[in-house]
Amino acid sequence: MTETLITSEVDYEAEGRQTGYLRVPHSVTRSAYGFIPVPVTVLKNGEGPTMVLMGGTHGDEYEGQVAIDRLAKTLRPDQITGRIICLPMLNFPAADAGLRCSPVDEGNLNRAFPADPRGTPTQLIAHYVEEVLMPLADYAIDLHSGGASLFYPPTFMRCPGWTEEESATLRKLQTAFDLPYAWVFTGGGGPNSTARTTMGAAARKGVVTVNAELGGGGAVTPEILALAERGLKRALHAVGMLPGYEPDAPRGT
Ligand SMILES: [Zn+2]
Repeated sequence: MTETLITSEVDYEAEGRQTGYLRVPHSVTRSAYGFIPVPVTVLKNGEGPTMVLMGGTHGDEYEGQVAIDRLAKTLRPDQITGRIICLPMLNFPAADAGLRCSPVDEGNLNRAFPADPRGTPTQLIAHYVEEVLMPLADYAIDLHSGGASLFYPPTFMRCPGWTEEESATLRKLQTAFDLPYAWVFTGGGGPNSTARTTMGAAARKGVVTVNAELGGGGAVTPEILALAERGLKRALHAVGMLPGYEPDAPRGT
């Protein structure tokens, strides 16, 4: 087992729905033995793949936070196959404050990987994602947007794939997500990735991983939020984890 300082209120092996917090220890004047609560919901139904869904890696990017939170609350375990780990506000202090970086330590979570297991709260979260969650996962999706400083057209992002099998799965996820744009990086990925992002963390652990940039501008539009929620369900369906879902007609990327 890894040397994380974070304790989880949820049991990743238990069946059904569990909600709680990852407790990131944070000893401050107000609370000598306090912790930062990172919300987590686990849905599990029998054997099957594991998907990790991340929002709020950057706290001023709201689309993924809302979409993953709604999914965590509305999906029933009996609708899924396998396990979905939902982290709608992954860098909780940043998400709580609506800021890109954490006001606790100025940490930019998507530049913090691979991280020090004895580091700042942002580094502890990054280390937990890479060393505890990614080894449980088959797939990982991290939803971003332009945040307070810019606006992206809704764009799916991925690497070309490290193996033929991974490439095929990445193409399947891109088709399923069905966003208007897709951006395929020309490099990166694979077990030797040096990326400081959740994508790098996932790649180093052999997890098939994609991102999306979903608008931004310090707000959320209903249209882009709908694309995000639709894309998540279609992606889960495409990898066999939401078998009863009936995708509507693709709109094209
Ligand atoms: Zn971001």
